[in-house]
Amino acid sequence: MIAFADPPPAAAFEPRQPKGRSIEELTSTVSASRLGTWLQCRLKFHLRYVAGVLKAPSAALHVGKTVHAVLQQWSLARWRGSPLDGDAIGAVFEQAWGTPEGAVPIAWESEEEAASKANALAVIQTYLRETPIPLDEKPEGVEVSVEIDLASHGLPVLVGVLDLVRAGGRIVDFKTTGRTPDPKMVLHTTEVQTTGYALLYREATGQRESGIELHHLVKLKTPKLVVTEAGPATEQQVNRLFHLIDAYVDDLERRDPIPSPGMQCSMCEFLGECRVWQ
Ligand code: SF4
Repeated sequence: MIAFADPPPAAAFEPRQPKGRSIEELTSTVSASRLGTWLQCRLKFHLRYVAGVLKAPSAALHVGKTVHAVLQQWSLARWRGSPLDGDAIGAVFEQAWGTPEGAVPIAWESEEEAASKANALAVIQTYLRETPIPLDEKPEGVEVSVEIDLASHGLPVLVGVLDLVRAGGRIVDFKTTGRTPDPKMVLHTTEVQTTGYALLYREATGQRESGIELHHLVKLKTPKLVVTEAGPATEQQVNRLFHLIDAYVDDLERRDPIPSPGMQCSMCEFLGECRVWQ
């Protein structure tokens, strides 16, 4: 039997807020999301994690966090053996949509909030209708925090939270997107995250994961669900992740956060700071 700890209580799903951290702290542990931001742009990483600049989330990010919070409660309820009905889902959704204490509220334009909210709810309803996960399937784990000390490889501690582990050791990660994802690109662009999850799962259970599922909730006018399946992480992927973590530590210790202008800038919340950076 898998020995995951109990999941967090029902109310503990408020998004964590960033705050400034020292380079020493940021190189003593590493997570897939920090690695992802660092890979996108060193300056963005610096502004978010080192300087701790707080920004209101974009509408897309707010929708993503709300969907994630609702699906977390949906998974937790199944873990407890009492699945949520439609009314309970609606109540969780309303609570998750609000701005958490201490967060910067979004400056919505006139009809924007109502439209985004309706879209988020439609995406969740589509997922609950089309999910491949049977309602009576008890998860192995939900929102499990795990860490693995990589000191024997000369690397920091890898930390992370597994959204959901299905029966039989299938790791599930929920994502929201505005476009229908291409499976090949999904496997490529999520490799840091999926390989990290695989290592964390192995650390927590002493077993190898049976596979990884990426559940993309696509925010089209008519929302849809696209599930991309990856096999267990390979040795080559693990080596690649270790090499990347090594480069991350070296780069942060150089303390030279250069910008990387590119396509990603259109979604970057730090464009204003970036334009006056020197
Ligand atoms: S605007 Fe672009 S270059 Fe500047 S911090 Fe953001 S991602 Fe980096």
